[in-house]
Amino acid sequence: SVGQRVVDFENQVAEFTGASYAVAVVNGTAALQVALRVAGVLPGDEVITQDLTFVATANAIRHLNASPVFLFVYLDTMGLSPRSALAYLESHAKVTDRGAVNKSTGKRISACVPMHTFGNPLRVEALKFICEEWKVALVEDAAESLGSYIGDKHTGTFGELGILSFNGNKVITTGGGGMIITNDKNLADHAKHLTTTAK
Ligand SMILES: *Cc1c(COP(=O)(O)O)cnc(C)c1O
Repeated sequence: SVGQRVVDFENQVAEFTGASYAVAVVNGTAALQVALRVAGVLPGDEVITQDLTFVATANAIRHLNASPVFLFVYLDTMGLSPRSALAYLESHAKVTDRGAVNKSTGKRISACVPMHTFGNPLRVEALKFICEEWKVALVEDAAESLGSYIGDKHTGTFGELGILSFNGNKVITTGGGGMIITNDKNLADHAKHLTTTAK
């Protein structure tokens, strides 16, 4: 978590992805947990994710004592279907002063975590539009998509935050490691604070 090489790596990842800030974390799962936390996910919340993903996506949600809501992916992108997210929100949610709330459970639907499967970009622009309309934070699981762009914009930079993994099975590896990327200085500072023992 400390040392010039960590800072250099953070700067290189920020430059490569075009994100304003990058925060190094022990692994991709922890990156997701911290990203969701700084995005405002609280214990008891519901978090939308996709039914085709690596288990870490759901684990990170559960590590915050929130509940994953599994929605469909598109066959072509293997990523969360914006249509499925919209249908879920229209039938289950209402926007209140606490953000989106599930009408039947009364729980906040505080975030949405889509995943760019095997580096294939999902339709994240449409999803972002829906998340903004419904006041749901968008956190992209880009653990598998370092080097994948939509146009000239890197995956993981569409939402409030995105995360990368540098585990041994990923595009590049640090043995184990992860990174949170964001354009929001407050979110980056909060993430850095939490991941450096909140001193
Ligand atoms: C690998 C992976 C993670 C977790 O990364 P770790 O560094 O192994 O904790 C999260 N999400 C997806 C989609 C992954 O493929």
